[in-house]
Amino acid sequence: MLDVLRIRKDFPMLDGKLMANEPLVYLDNGATTFKPQCVIDAVTNYYTDMTSNYHRGDYELSYRVDTAFEKARKAVAAFINASDEEVVFPSGATASLNTVAYGYGLKVLKEGDVILSTLSEHASNILPWFRVAEKTGARVEYIPFDKEGRVTIENFRKALKPEVRIVTLAAVSNVLGYEVPVKEICAIAHENGSTVVIDGAQSVPHMKTDVKDMGCDFLCFSSHKMCGPSGIGVMYGRYELLEKMDPLSLGGGSNARFNSSCNLILREVPYKFEAGTPAIEAVLGFHKAVEYLQSIGMDSILEHEKALKAHFMERVRELDNVIVYNPNGDTGIVTINVKGVFAQDAASYLATKGIAVRSGNHCAKMLVEFLGTDATVRISPYLYNTIDDIDRLIEALKTTTLENCIGTIF
Ligand code: PMP
Repeated sequence: MLDVLRIRKDFPMLDGKLMANEPLVYLDNGATTFKPQCVIDAVTNYYTDMTSNYHRGDYELSYRVDTAFEKARKAVAAFINASDEEVVFPSGATASLNTVAYGYGLKVLKEGDVILSTLSEHASNILPWFRVAEKTGARVEYIPFDKEGRVTIENFRKALKPEVRIVTLAAVSNVLGYEVPVKEICAIAHENGSTVVIDGAQSVPHMKTDVKDMGCDFLCFSSHKMCGPSGIGVMYGRYELLEKMDPLSLGGGSNARFNSSCNLILREVPYKFEAGTPAIEAVLGFHKAVEYLQSIGMDSILEHEKALKAHFMERVRELDNVIVYNPNGDTGIVTINVKGVFAQDAASYLATKGIAVRSGNHCAKMLVEFLGTDATVRISPYLYNTIDDIDRLIEALKTTTLENCIGTIF
């Protein structure tokens, strides 16, 4: 059990200053999360006490930054059980997925090959593959869902064929919160000779992640969805694949040598992928975020989110105006609609009650057909949400009617 009241004290965004009467109920953690003070301190400390570039200077300050940066890489690598050199710091999950698609996909795919994915992917993990398919003559195919919208091993096996070179999917859907059986999928895909790319944007922040145990070839995620700063994320890749891959950007810090005849020798992995000055303060803050989550425990975080979801499911039975699209979701995410009320109107009305949720298609535009609706309201809790937050949501949903929503502008 998490000591949520104590945890909440770590987050300045929850100190009550934002709301006049009642505390803010923030249930949009799938979009981004609040930052604990230790992360904010690490970011400001870089500016107040240790500003200098990374990998550039020969003086004490620069050395301190280099050391802190590489320590952060080590901590993030340990967090997912990777080797240090297998952790690259792009600007976020989107940049990470694009780097895999263009740097690896473009290199290995040829006409007739298949990129196997799902219809619930976030735009960031399907649009790069559309482009790579167009450029290589490969085609994108989808694993059929079961009745609930899940990816099952049985359906994965059915969709797999010798032409599948790449399997790319989110370990947890950002709309339905289903956990995909990634370990089994990796094993089966590898027997088929396919490479597996995992979008971990909604899984890594919420559950223990072990890339070796999972067996994935690539894993991409963002710091800002796991209590860390924006502007930084991770591209994990198996060392031998990273070695084979091309970086998307070239520039300072990523090359070993070049000359006027256009000869270029890149640095070793991971540095060949990190051209230019990175978001140094964000990397240092990310280190603290990872330590913070570890000190609480990833299993406890997931258990807490599931308990919040279970409480929502229990209490939503009091209401006859709410449709739940994922009653059996495996994580904290609950996706709903209020009967007769457009999702954005419902979210705007909830905002007037101090409740922040997300409405729309959540960048998973191909899922719309399966859900049978263009827009939904997504409730995504995290470690600092309370049972009280869920109760306030339920009470607000009771009065979320078309009549009440008319004229609500937030
Ligand atoms: N994949 C999934 C499943 C996501 O939920 C998101 C963020 N909504 C992304 C990728 C992209 O993450 P970012 O915007 O941090 O690059």
